[in-house]
Amino acid sequence: MKTLYLTTSEEDLLKGAEIIKNGGLVAFPTETVYGLGGNALDGQSSRKIYAAKGRPSDNPLIVHISDMSEIEGLAAEFPENARKLGEAIWPGPLTIVLPKKPVVPDETTGGLGTVAIRLPANSAAQKLIANSGVPIAAPSANLSGRPSPTLWEHVKHDLDGKADAIIMGEPCMGGIESTVCDFTDPQHPLVLRPGLITPERISEILGIPCEYDPAILSKPEEGLVPRAPGMKYKHYAPNAQMVLYSGSPEDVKKAILEEEEALKKEGKTVGTIIYEDGKQAARNLFSDLRALDEQGIDVILASALDPQDPVNYSVMNRMLKAAGYNIKEV
Ligand code: AMP
Ligand code: MG
Repeated sequence: MKTLYLTTSEEDLLKGAEIIKNGGLVAFPTETVYGLGGNALDGQSSRKIYAAKGRPSDNPLIVHISDMSEIEGLAAEFPENARKLGEAIWPGPLTIVLPKKPVVPDETTGGLGTVAIRLPANSAAQKLIANSGVPIAAPSANLSGRPSPTLWEHVKHDLDGKADAIIMGEPCMGGIESTVCDFTDPQHPLVLRPGLITPERISEILGIPCEYDPAILSKPEEGLVPRAPGMKYKHYAPNAQMVLYSGSPEDVKKAILEEEEALKKEGKTVGTIIYEDGKQAARNLFSDLRALDEQGIDVILASALDPQDPVNYSVMNRMLKAAGYNIKEV
C-alpha cells in the first residue's frame, strides 16, 4: 500500500478522519508517543492494526477519545474515582481501565472484558478523533518489539507501506507511553504500566492509596503474571545489545568508559547514554535508541536511573526492557 503523508492542517485532519471511518489506519501524534489508529468499534480495523505492527493479538489496544462524554458508550461502569482522576488529568498521559460494553469488540481489547480509555492532550489527535466520529484504538506506532516512536520519521521508518496515512505532527514531549491505571476495583486503583502520572499523584488526587502492579519491575520469566497483557512481551528493543550500569554516578561513568575502551579494542562500535534527569530521559530515550541503531552501533552502554524517583522509575521500566534486564551493579 502507498502511505499518504498528512500535515496537521484542518483539511488533512479531515482526510485522516475519512480514512478511519472507512476502516483504514492513520498514525497520529500524541503527547506521549505516536499511535497507529483505527476505528475502535470495528474489529476488522483492530485486526489490521495488529497485522501492521506484527503485534500479538492478545495485547490490547488503548481506545482514544476526544471528550469524556464518550466514555458512557464504551464502559459498562464509570466509577466516581475513575471520573475524578480523568477530570483532574485529562487531556493527558493517563489511560483508565474499566469494564467494557459489548459494543467494544474483542479484537480491540485482546479478548479482555475491560477497555482501556485515554483522552490525549495533542490537538491534532483530538481533532482527528472528533472528526472521525468514533473512538480510535491505537497502540504505539512502531513495529512490535521496537522502541516506541516519538517523531513522525520514526513511524515512517517502521510503518511506511503498512499504514494508510501518517500525520507529520510535532515531536512527542512526554516520550514514554501513558500511565495505565486499572479501576476494576474502584477503591483500589492499580498502576499496570508506569508513566509520567505517578501513583503518588493519583493517590493525592483521590485521597486513597494507589500502587504499582507488582509484576511491573520483575523479569517476565520470573513468574508474576501481569494484569496488563502487553507486559509479557519483548519491548522497546534496539538492534544493538544494551547494558545498564547501576551505582554512584562516578563509578558508573568510570565503568562505562572502561567497558567502552575494551569493546573498541575488540573492534565493536559503542554508544553511551547518560541522562541527568528523569523527564529528559523520558523525552529522549526512544529517539536515542533509534538514532544509535541508525548509526549501526553494536553495543549501547547506559547509566541506570535511580528508581526511587517516580519519574525515573517509569523510564527505568522501559530501559530494563530495552536492555533485556541486562544490568550490572558497579
Ligand atoms: P501500547 O499501545 O503499545 O502502548 O500498548 C497498550 C497497552 O495498554 C497494552 O500493552 C496494555 O499494557 C495496556 N492495556 C490496554 N488495554 C488494557 C486492558 N483492557 N487491561 C489492561 N491493560 C490494558
Ligand atoms: Mg507499544
